[in-house]
Amino acid sequence: MGSIPTYSRHEERRNDVKNEQMRKIPKVDEVLQHVSLEQVKAEIPHSLLLFAVRAVADDLRARILKGEPVPEGAFGCDSIAAKAKALAEKEFAASLRPVINATGVPLHTNLGRAPLSAAARQAVDQAASSYCNLEYDIERGERGSRHAHLEYLIRRITGAEAALVVNNNAAATLLCLAALSRGRECVISRGELVEIGGSFRIPEIMAESGAILVEVGTTNKTRLSDYRARLNEETGLILKVHTSNYRITGFTEEASLEELVRLGREAGLPVVYDLGSGLMTELKGIGEPNVADGLRAGADVVMFSGDKLLGGPQSGILIGKKAYIAKMKQYPLARAFRVDKLTIAALEATFRAYYEDARACREIPVLRMLQTPAEELLLRAGALAARLSEIPGVKAEAVVTENEIGGGSGPGVSLPGAATAVRVGGLTANALEKKLRTGERSVVGRIAGGKLLLELRTILPEEEDLLAECVRNAAEGKEA
Ligand SMILES: *Cc1c(COP(=O)(O)O)cnc(C)c1O
Repeated sequence: MGSIPTYSRHEERRNDVKNEQMRKIPKVDEVLQHVSLEQVKAEIPHSLLLFAVRAVADDLRARILKGEPVPEGAFGCDSIAAKAKALAEKEFAASLRPVINATGVPLHTNLGRAPLSAAARQAVDQAASSYCNLEYDIERGERGSRHAHLEYLIRRITGAEAALVVNNNAAATLLCLAALSRGRECVISRGELVEIGGSFRIPEIMAESGAILVEVGTTNKTRLSDYRARLNEETGLILKVHTSNYRITGFTEEASLEELVRLGREAGLPVVYDLGSGLMTELKGIGEPNVADGLRAGADVVMFSGDKLLGGPQSGILIGKKAYIAKMKQYPLARAFRVDKLTIAALEATFRAYYEDARACREIPVLRMLQTPAEELLLRAGALAARLSEIPGVKAEAVVTENEIGGGSGPGVSLPGAATAVRVGGLTANALEKKLRTGERSVVGRIAGGKLLLELRTILPEEEDLLAECVRNAAEGKEA
């Protein structure tokens, strides 16, 4: 019976302790005056710092109320100020941050696909920092067209009659289907109903566009006769989609683009080719069709991504017959999908490199990465390993690997590569991977066979100093 009052006394004592602890939490203003916040005040807005100090104090209060043990030091202005500073800095830091791509995948969609060429970066910087003739004809002193900047150049480089640039290839597909085949049937092989990265699925894009999907053939075999049998007065266009991220092998058959073009001509229908990756040159060992192949086959419209094998900014490029491109330009969605001056600047500089294939291969990072010979990568992997091995606690060695292209390009293509395998004493491969990934400069490598590999194909030579610094920080156990 006596247990109840005892319990109450116990509870009372606990509340006394809690109240006493609560009183120890310094006032917000007092924390804000702390010397350790002097410098950070110049950079971080007052309201954010205030928010952070309150958040740290609130957290302390919550811990006290829960009866968690709170060490004496946690109540000091210095401790609260330090925590608030870290919190505010974290919130104020950019969310979009540079990453060292050590995965060996040049067109890594999660890592932003193609890094831009020096010329493209300069063009973006210039377009960003001043006014420009985006929609202004300087010669005539009157309103101009934003399409003009790229159209002439793309026509010259590709040999197409006309060109139009939109936000990405998904937008290009939607615009093309809507403008040329809305309310009419669009014939496509069952083997080409692709999904690109989750949200882009041909049947769904088709539905959005208002074109009516007509599937012909089977998953593995579609003949020209299958297409021919489904053409009628409701047909709007014939679509061929490059199965850019998978291959159908074995007992297969497909109608070639040339055959479809002939059929389209007979029936008076446009033939549209969704190529996906915008490969402009012959690249050894890649085995991807390129833009010229599409035009040579006679497709009325060819579309491709600016940030896949073209190596430029995110964009979708439509090229082909003038009448069709004009229809798309006038279609209302073209306004919704139009690109801004930064994209135009980057894409113009990227395309300009293609006047000469050799120049493009030299200047465009993605092309350079794809073509670096395995021997060169192995040499760099060895040099990096030697350098990293000088850091106390680090063991590194060069290993031979295989790389993929990424970005849903060249499925099944493997490029001979080389990596530096790194180990840090006392850390598992997974722990090291996490430390590097979450460090001040994020390094994303890959784990294979229980080892952390840093793939040289995608590490820019000028990033190697910084990379070595990141490994040193990880080895010294510095906090991220
Ligand atoms: C990548 C791809 C797309 C989508 O292109 P985004 O530029 O990523 O929007 C569409 N079709 C094909 C065949 C592709 O390979």
